Amino acid sequence: MSALVPRSDFPLLSVNPALVYLDSAATAQKPRAVLDAMNEFYESDYANPHRGAYALSARATERYARARGAVARFFGVRDEECLIFTRGTTDSLNLIAGAWGRANLGRGDEVIVTGAEHHANFVPWQQIAIERGATFTICPLAADGRADVEALAALVSRKTRVIAFNHVSNVLGAINSVPEIASIARSVGALSVCDGAQGAPHMAVGFDALGVDFYAASAHKMLGPMGTGVLIGRREVLELLPPYQTGGDMIEFVGDERTTWNVLPHKLEAGTPNVAGAVGLAAACDYLTAIGIDAVASHERALVRLAYERVSAIEHVRVHGPAATERSGVLSFTVGDIHPHDLASLLDERQICIRAGHHCAQPLMRRLGVSATARASFYVYNDENDVETLGAAIESAKRVFALA
Ligand code: PMP
Repeated sequence: MSALVPRSDFPLLSVNPALVYLDSAATAQKPRAVLDAMNEFYESDYANPHRGAYALSARATERYARARGAVARFFGVRDEECLIFTRGTTDSLNLIAGAWGRANLGRGDEVIVTGAEHHANFVPWQQIAIERGATFTICPLAADGRADVEALAALVSRKTRVIAFNHVSNVLGAINSVPEIASIARSVGALSVCDGAQGAPHMAVGFDALGVDFYAASAHKMLGPMGTGVLIGRREVLELLPPYQTGGDMIEFVGDERTTWNVLPHKLEAGTPNVAGAVGLAAACDYLTAIGIDAVASHERALVRLAYERVSAIEHVRVHGPAATERSGVLSFTVGDIHPHDLASLLDERQICIRAGHHCAQPLMRRLGVSATARASFYVYNDENDVETLGAAIESAKRVFALA
């Protein structure tokens, strides 16, 4: 199975032909189209948007608005004012937990997260629950690492105010049923917040049809730049949301005693925006759309299935998470008692990039009964040779560690 896109589209991969990059769940490499779009913005239309009375500033404003439109189309959001540009998923989730939580949570209320959350969708909710005197409940996981929806349905009550969960686990690649969880939340009048950091890069989101109240994602995991992300929300909730940060651009009128807020999306985008980041994300969305996001999803699933078969057939290897056919392009595993960091270092000697550690998911590590795993993750530029190189390198590492 060849790669879905030519390696030559990616400058870093082109100049490092021997590099086997298997860490796209941490961050994806950038196609030239994204780098060129950002550069072109800086070279042709760069100025501070929204403020200037001159044509160049108007062009920067127009680029920012066009980027919002393109990204909204990619995420399946008709009302593009409901797409807020942020610094990334962490920023998006802190925005919603902080702004919504502070205004809406009180003693006796309940916040539910799943046991498979990245710290970015766990700690902000835990902390706002502590601050507001709300109960913080962790929804159990099914054996495959997905949220146990039956347990969740039994857990919720009228006290439940929010359910925060991932679209796809960054450790296990397990894919949650977003509409099902959103509907459980709706049945008790709770808000549903989906962490899409590992969903949006790999499958169609279709926000308007998803049923969830909020969806967060990071540009850098979907071929776009670091420092940019989105928070997409339902207008009714966004309209009632108090500002997350205050300052320039987000105001309507500043009086000596009180201030009124700008309309969406500006109310939630204080300060000079990251226009180049938005332009880069829009270019990444266009690139993914040109390939076809469904083709991206099936390419990764095919590769991960191959990797699952190759790696799990090696003696002493334990692959965590769902069956080969049920996962997004992520494979977490341990090899006997070889520490994942040692394994990753040995693989690095062969220019294979994998991640090792707790993957910012310590609550999940506890539930898996491990302190760390090795993780290989696949994207559009990976092919079956990468899978074979990984498998052979694990076998060689076993020999180094005298693991028969
Ligand atoms: N959630 C998940 C599931 C993730 O994989 C990540 C990134 N590892 C994040 C949230 C945080 O994303 P960022 O660091 O881009 O804010």
